[in-house]
Amino acid sequence: DLKGRSAVVTGSTSGIGLHMAEALAKMGVALTLNGLGEEAEIEKERKRLEDTYGVTVRFDGANLMDQAEIRRLIADAEAAHGKIDILVNNAGMQKVAPIDEYDEATWDRLVALNLSAVFHATKAVLPGMKKRRWGRIVNTASAHGLVASPFKAPYVATKHAVLGFSKAVALEVAEQGITVNSICPGYTLTPLVENQVADTAKARGMTEEEVKSEVMLKAQPTKEFVTYEQLNGMLLYLCSDAGASCTGSSYVIDGGWTAQ
Ligand code: NAD
Repeated sequence: DLKGRSAVVTGSTSGIGLHMAEALAKMGVALTLNGLGEEAEIEKERKRLEDTYGVTVRFDGANLMDQAEIRRLIADAEAAHGKIDILVNNAGMQKVAPIDEYDEATWDRLVALNLSAVFHATKAVLPGMKKRRWGRIVNTASAHGLVASPFKAPYVATKHAVLGFSKAVALEVAEQGITVNSICPGYTLTPLVENQVADTAKARGMTEEEVKSEVMLKAQPTKEFVTYEQLNGMLLYLCSDAGASCTGSSYVIDGGWTAQ
C-alpha cells in the first residue's frame, strides 16, 4: 500500500539507509537519496534503484551538518516529488574514545548530525504532511538510545535524545495522520561498524576479532549481527497502514541486547 508515496531517506548512500531506501523503492516509493560519497558510485546506485524498481530516484548531497542545507533538501524534494510522505532520519556518525580524550569539534559535529539534523528535517517536512494529513517519520536511533556502553558518551547521548524528541513530536501531530517513531538496531555490520571495530580495538587494547566477538556480539545474546532485511521489515511495517497506531514509540531490533 505504499505505491505512489514518496520518501526522503537521509544518509542513504551507505549501510542501513541505502538498504532502507531500496526496500522503499521496491514497494513503489519515489525516493530522494542523501549522503556523502563518491559521485560516480552514488550515481550508479541511484540509477540501479530507478531502473530496477521503476520509480523516480533523486540524489541530493546536502550536508546535514548545515541547517540551511537541510531546509533546501526538504524543499527541493517536495518540489520534485510533489510531496514527502515518508521521512527517514537515518544519517549518523560514531566516534569511539574515552570522554576525557574526546575532542570538542567531534562532539559538535556528532550532535549536529545525530540530533540537530533530525530536528531540522522533521520541522521542515511537517507542514506538508499536516496539509495532506498523512505522514511517517522514522528515525534510526540505536540500542544506544536505551542503554549505554563506555567510550561512546556523545553517541549514547544523541540517540537517547532522538527517542525523546520523537515521542514529543508524535504527541503534537497524533491527530493529523502523522506517526513519529524510532527504530533501535543492535549491531549491524555496516561500514560505520567496520570502522568502529578498529577504534574500539585501540581504546580497549584488543584485536579486531576480539572486538567483534567479545564486545559487539557479546552484548547481543543471539550472537548474530542484525541484518538489513530485519530493519527494513520494521520500517515497512511502520510506513504501512497497519502501522497507523504505532506512534511515539521505539522499536528495538537488537538480538536481545537490551533485555539483559
Ligand atoms: P554508515 O556510515 O554506513 O552510513 C551513514 C550514512 O550517513 C552514509 O550515507 C553517510 O554518507 C551519511 N552521512 C554521514 N555524514 C553526513 C553528513 N554530514 N551529511 C549527510 N549525510 C551524511 O552507517 P550505518 O551503520 O548505516 O548507520 C546509519 C544509522 O544507523 C546511523 O544513525 C547509526 O547511528 C545507526 N545505527 C547503526 C548501527 C549499526 O550497528 N550499524 C546500530 C544502531 C544504529
